[in-house]
Amino acid sequence: MGTSSSAITLLSSGLDSTVATALALAEGYSIRLAITFDYGQRAAQQEISHAQRWAEFWGVEHRVLSLPFFSLSKSGLLKNKETPTLPHPTLMELDNPTLAQQSAHQVWVPNRNGVFLEIAAAFAEQLDSQFLIVGFNREEAATFPDNSSAYRESLNRAFTFSTANQVTIISPTEHFNKREIVRKAIELGLPLQNIWSCYAQGEAMCGRCESCMRLKRAFNSNEVNSDAFFADSHL
Ligand SMILES: [Zn+2]
Repeated sequence: MGTSSSAITLLSSGLDSTVATALALAEGYSIRLAITFDYGQRAAQQEISHAQRWAEFWGVEHRVLSLPFFSLSKSGLLKNKETPTLPHPTLMELDNPTLAQQSAHQVWVPNRNGVFLEIAAAFAEQLDSQFLIVGFNREEAATFPDNSSAYRESLNRAFTFSTANQVTIISPTEHFNKREIVRKAIELGLPLQNIWSCYAQGEAMCGRCESCMRLKRAFNSNEVNSDAFFADSHL
């Protein structure tokens, strides 16, 4: 592909955005810029430093954008002192729709993905890139509607009105669950230690939040020894 495949990636350094970016690169997209958002999340520093590692790994320009206004949110994902503690779901709870909804509600950040994608689309248009890469996944689309193909398609339609160059979101991981995404990461030979999927802050991923539990389950089902990745490696 030539310059017509120029893309911007939304890179949190979590499993999904990392593998989505790697798959896009493997498909021939040229990554013009990787954006990581600091929206006051507990894991901001770790996400930024790990995203920098990926950007260096791929030789891609990296930029951190601050969105301080999310501090109004009471989401458990944020480091605001008044926010609730992070939920620690069990493995069974990950697949229980009612409990997963409750957990999702606790970490919901109002219109976060919508804001991210709209900002990234403005960058894409300014940099003459047509594509935006995001790491949606089938497993979480059930509880996070802003992680679904329906949402991506509706935003793509909106961008035909709001961008002059028809910015288009692609999500190479969208039809995969976490186990399948980890398998892709292994097939692509990605250094898994550069992934930071944890909602919490700390030296190592906590191993207890919902995101860690999903990643740990996916590692184990791919026979990746997850002990080295998490502070608490018990399932
Ligand atoms: Zn965690």
